Amino acid sequence: AHEGILRRQSLRESAARTYARSLPIVPVRARGLTIEGADGRRYLDCLSGAGTLALGHNHPVVLEAIKKVLDSGAPLHVLDLATPVKDAFVTELFGTLPREFADNARVQFCGPAGTDAVEAAFKLVRAATGRSGLLAFTGAYHGMTEGALAASGGAEDVRVTRLPFPQDYRCPFGIGGEAGARTAAHWTENLLDDPKSGTPAPAGMILEPVQGEGGVNPAPDGWMRRMREITETRSIPLIADEVQTGVGRTGAFWAVEHSGIVPDVMVLSKAIGGSLPLAVIVYRSELDTWQPGAHAGTFRGNQLAMAAGTATLAYVRENGLAERAGVLGGRMLASLRSLAADHPCVGDVRGRGLMIGVEIVDPEARPQGTGTEPPPDPVLAAAVQQECLSRGLIVELGGRYSTVVRLLPPLTLTDEQATAVVDRLADALAAAER
Ligand code: PMP
Repeated sequence: AHEGILRRQSLRESAARTYARSLPIVPVRARGLTIEGADGRRYLDCLSGAGTLALGHNHPVVLEAIKKVLDSGAPLHVLDLATPVKDAFVTELFGTLPREFADNARVQFCGPAGTDAVEAAFKLVRAATGRSGLLAFTGAYHGMTEGALAASGGAEDVRVTRLPFPQDYRCPFGIGGEAGARTAAHWTENLLDDPKSGTPAPAGMILEPVQGEGGVNPAPDGWMRRMREITETRSIPLIADEVQTGVGRTGAFWAVEHSGIVPDVMVLSKAIGGSLPLAVIVYRSELDTWQPGAHAGTFRGNQLAMAAGTATLAYVRENGLAERAGVLGGRMLASLRSLAADHPCVGDVRGRGLMIGVEIVDPEARPQGTGTEPPPDPVLAAAVQQECLSRGLIVELGGRYSTVVRLLPPLTLTDEQATAVVDRLADALAAAER
């Protein structure tokens, strides 16, 4: 069955498949961190639905919530009508948001994907400001629809399909510590304030508090506060894309809490649907200049996703899983950093909470004390991913050159599982280096 399914799907499905190409597995059952394939093999899943599964696969509270809706006879398709299931979701969601933000916020159901919510955010700030340009950052990833794609930077393989808006501008994203962050902030300020730059006042700025697909690049808290200041003093709405960083992943329920900034718009998806498709924007109510019908869509507010999402948000909140992700992630980062000493192919280990990246570089070309960066090694990174897979560990590659091994385990990860993940990755690094 395993081979037949793989063969048939590779014949019939689009050449654009990504995960299936590097992960030739046929999942038939899953629970928590574990996926079982049709061939009977078991894997530790550190891809977690591209960062979606805050509670891992098929968590009992999520399954229970879904069954409850199914058994209740509630309509499954409700457009944007008011329902008790939606009421519970919005109440739980607003309860988790930073107080200063939630007290004066509106929610717009978009959907069903993160990219839909990004488009809605762009539309909203354009409508509210009457301006059209957007500020986005190199290395950003916001989705695969036209606006989101135009705002995404650094993904070589999507460059040909990117359709930039005429007035889009990109700023360098300072990931080189606080000094790099200061330079990036100055660059942004100069661009906005120098009339010779020709930059028209933008409709908004979109940023990820930790870039995910871009290779796990945490934005320094100081830089986040500078971006808030820069946008606030110029009346530019700030959009925080928390599609991947949200729901506890980075060690705070929402990643903007680390820097304490209050954005104007938050883009939320992935974990908020408890493994089912759901996407919303939450925004400062002054921005709500939309007329009825200004934003629509058939699949908004899927009842099953809202119920699964409510259960997930409540479970993360009640069990302190954000704090847990911070502590456990810190421990994993420390063990991975100590591994780096034994593995010259590890160029960098970075992350926040349970959003971790291990950058693979060419061990041969690693310069000795020259202060220059060793070159990324995509072939070796792909080999590490395959060695992980053969040891029953599913990881994804990210970053501009697909050289960052990304770990996005569920927040329910146990200490023993965390150790197993690091051990398997260590073995895979050793095998790939040989
Ligand atoms: N924003 C961020 C930060 C993301 O990580 C992603 C998905 N990886 C998206 C937006 C797009 O979400 P979707 O794939 O559901 O359209």
